[in-house]
Amino acid sequence: MVKNSVGDIEHNLAVLRQRVKQACERVGRNPEEVQILLATKTVEANRILEAFEEGATLIGENRAQELVEKFDALKVVAHTTHFIGHLQSNKLKDVVGRVDCVQSLDRLDLAEKIEKRLAAEGREIDVLIQVKTAPEESKFGCAPKEALALTKAVSALPHLHVKGLMTIGVFSENTEEVRACFRKLMSVRQEIITAHIDGVSMDVVSMGMSGDLELAIEEGSTLIRVGTAVFGKRL
Ligand SMILES: *Cc1c(COP(=O)(O)O)cnc(C)c1O
Repeated sequence: MVKNSVGDIEHNLAVLRQRVKQACERVGRNPEEVQILLATKTVEANRILEAFEEGATLIGENRAQELVEKFDALKVVAHTTHFIGHLQSNKLKDVVGRVDCVQSLDRLDLAEKIEKRLAAEGREIDVLIQVKTAPEESKFGCAPKEALALTKAVSALPHLHVKGLMTIGVFSENTEEVRACFRKLMSVRQEIITAHIDGVSMDVVSMGMSGDLELAIEEGSTLIRVGTAVFGKRL
């Protein structure tokens, strides 16, 4: 049961870590291979600070505006921030200087704009290529068959470092449909590994959320993005 009131973050994180451990045990994986990113959209800074106190070190924001609003309050505690939402070019100036990784890179024109800004600021960041593995229209991400070419093109941009892939599984009660998304991402990953692209790592496989993290871990996830299971339902 996910509890919703302040003070339950400790409990919810403990339950989450247990879920990760059990999923890993089922497939003979080491739980240390699976990083937990807390998806903090709509979550107030003071509750995120509470999660930091309970050992969380990695968060993901979806919206540039929220990233900016919470930035000063959160920077008092050492942590890592990823951008996990759809990124609009006109918001880059707010995002690029405030994150360690953009997980939602899904098109070359965006990558080139990020590169330009990073070059001007003298910064480098990690990126994941977001792949659309679900059939739904509303999902962002590049098509699976375009991922290799996009990865190659991004690898030529000196201030961006490709570290792996990200996907959002289909929202479905049918676990086989969800698994199929994660398997699709793993097969795209294999294709990219086989291509041996200079400077590209495929170490990070970002897949799995509150409702499907066990399936994702069983299929090979190395980074789960969890919101409601820790912070409760978003209002
Ligand atoms: C909100 C969000 C999550 C977390 O979703 P929950 O179901 O609340 O765990 C993960 N990834 C992305 C990209 C999100 O926007």
